Amino acid sequence: MNDKPAISNPGISNLQAIDAAHHIHPFSDMKELNAKGTRIIERAEGVHIYDSTGKKYLDAFAGLWCVNVGYGRKSIAEAAFRQMQELPYYNTFFGTTTPPATLLAQKIASKTGGRMNHVFFTNSGSEATDTWFRIARVYWKALGKPEKTQVIARKNAYHGSTVAGASLGGMKHMHEQGNLPIEGVHHIGQPYWYAEGGDLTPAEFGLKMARELETKIDELGEDRVAAFVAEPIQGAGGVIIPPDTYWPEIARICKARNILLISDEVICGFGRLGSWFGYQHFGVEPDLAPIAKGLSSGYLPIGGVLVSDRVAQVMISEFGDFAHGYTYSGHPVAAAAALENLRIIEEEGLVERVRDDIGPYFASAWKSLEDHQVVGQAESVGLIGGLQLAADKSTRRRYAKPDDTGSLVRNHCVENGLIMRATGDRMLASPALTITRSEIDEVIEKLGQALEHLRDTVKE
Ligand SMILES: *Cc1c(COP(=O)(O)O)cnc(C)c1O
Repeated sequence: MNDKPAISNPGISNLQAIDAAHHIHPFSDMKELNAKGTRIIERAEGVHIYDSTGKKYLDAFAGLWCVNVGYGRKSIAEAAFRQMQELPYYNTFFGTTTPPATLLAQKIASKTGGRMNHVFFTNSGSEATDTWFRIARVYWKALGKPEKTQVIARKNAYHGSTVAGASLGGMKHMHEQGNLPIEGVHHIGQPYWYAEGGDLTPAEFGLKMARELETKIDELGEDRVAAFVAEPIQGAGGVIIPPDTYWPEIARICKARNILLISDEVICGFGRLGSWFGYQHFGVEPDLAPIAKGLSSGYLPIGGVLVSDRVAQVMISEFGDFAHGYTYSGHPVAAAAALENLRIIEEEGLVERVRDDIGPYFASAWKSLEDHQVVGQAESVGLIGGLQLAADKSTRRRYAKPDDTGSLVRNHCVENGLIMRATGDRMLASPALTITRSEIDEVIEKLGQALEHLRDTVKE
């Protein structure tokens, strides 16, 4: 491979003009964005990204929760390059497979704790949501219960942006665009103690929110409910970490009522919580689990659905021809990149590093942010952190304009060379699993400065 730039680059202001003229961005107000001009990211190394002005940022968000092994891994590029020369594409539809697709399925299965031994490949987390949604309905039909079709999800959840993904997600602003949710999708509350827990202890509140599932099943009728889906920790919703009582109760209810439990592992999978999958951290056993993001650390698009033995048995013996799949399901180049990514995670012991070393370090550093006057709560698991801004922490009173407050802090960080994300009045961090202690110190210091800026700027 040579050192030629990846593409010829016409320069910053030209690129911004071309972008405004031709490129519609996801989750963006285009009028606002075009007026401001897009930020152009040109290269990256480790946990740092560089924009076209040469400015360096510490990316405490791993791209979009995905670059688990960090940027600049030549061995992943080389694995993709070799595979692309040998076999750039072949499908997995008509009785065929490719070596990387098959070996990747085996590798992923080996990390699930022995009970999710099959994988269905997709290209993204959103597609994975569409895939399990159909599997769940066909599963019950195959078992002679065709009326078990309703699916329960949660408010403020994120499961992707396709029609099924946006429907199952609990984002009101997404539902308003496109007449969602689709038929058969229902939402219960979220285990967001700080905002909604009132006078209950977190433990009491966790149980209360889990039991909303039981109530909803009763309301719909157990014989009509196919599945319940949740992220182990809500990501885009604001890194909302459920109280300890929540997941065991959810698992109990799904089992008692005989509905499938779907764990959306798109963020929590592949080491982020210090376990291979988020369900392992919380000690529950899902029936299906969508994956994406950290599977390839974002180097190439690939996702999938982990299928438990319970469901796989029925898919194999009763589904017949499951009329579902994507042209690029198990794409050999993406699969080769994912295999190399998983090899790196294993070889460098990144899951154990998050569990035993850098995760605990991050936890205490993140927690120390609670010393700031404007911070109500700073919680983390592994290398995912959520920080609640508060106007008055003694009463858990929040700022009157949550979105503006979070944006103020985020913008200050970005100006200062730190990429963070805000959801409303929560600040989110999800760095690469390779981040060092001194890089964590820098995150805490810069975020701390932004929190002081908030304290000095907004008086309520
Ligand atoms: C990102 C995400 C998705 C959607 O994945 P895409 O690859 O963006 O389609 C689904 N579920 C969760 C929990 C996510 O964070």
